[in-house]
Amino acid sequence: MNELDALWELHRHDMEIKKIEQRLKRLPLRKELKGLKKEIEREIESLKRNKSKLDRFKKTLRKVEMEYKTHEMQIKDLEKKLYSGEVTSVKELEQLEKKLKHIKNIEGREEDETLELVELIENLEKEIKQQKRQIIQKKELFNQKKQEYRDTLEQLNDELFDLEYKREELLENMEKRLKKMYDEVKMNRDGIAMAEIQDGKCSICRMALPIMIINEVKKKEKIIRCENCGRLLYWSD
Ligand SMILES: [Zn+2]
Repeated sequence: MNELDALWELHRHDMEIKKIEQRLKRLPLRKELKGLKKEIEREIESLKRNKSKLDRFKKTLRKVEMEYKTHEMQIKDLEKKLYSGEVTSVKELEQLEKKLKHIKNIEGREEDETLELVELIENLEKEIKQQKRQIIQKKELFNQKKQEYRDTLEQLNDELFDLEYKREELLENMEKRLKKMYDEVKMNRDGIAMAEIQDGKCSICRMALPIMIINEVKKKEKIIRCENCGRLLYWSD
């Protein structure tokens, strides 16, 4: 293989390696996973809050129901007393009626409160059920994406390994001075040591090249660098 062709091979491998390394650095899936995880955490928190709210409502409901029963019994007792004919004093009867009315009022309010609480509990239970379903779905999605992420990572790392292996092979057959020169340019030029000639220009810095230089590069007899960016010029047949 011609020296320049060998260098170009090396350069192409390096470009592939660079591309994969960049992809590995910012895989969109990583961001997606982070976002999804946060979403799940938020929903779990909200679910916890709703559950303790539900407990509070249920506790209040039990209390109100018990009080309602007590008042119901008190009303029965008062009515029994009132209509039994045992009490004859007008004043006492009036007092009994007043008390009965008062307790009936309370009982009415308790009835309203019970209905209200039952409705609140029903709605909250529905919401909790939906939240649980959503959390399960999101967790499934998260696991699926995590697997996808792992697969992509593995695939890219495999590709990287192959490329680096082939790169080593290419280097084995290359002269030391060439390797050294290539590495120096690569290090000082953003990791891009070579540039193709395209439409009479250096493909990387876009500088127009004299026809004489182009003809020299085409011969592939010696290494010629771009006057502007210093990269090693290459002509693809
Ligand atoms: Zn250039």
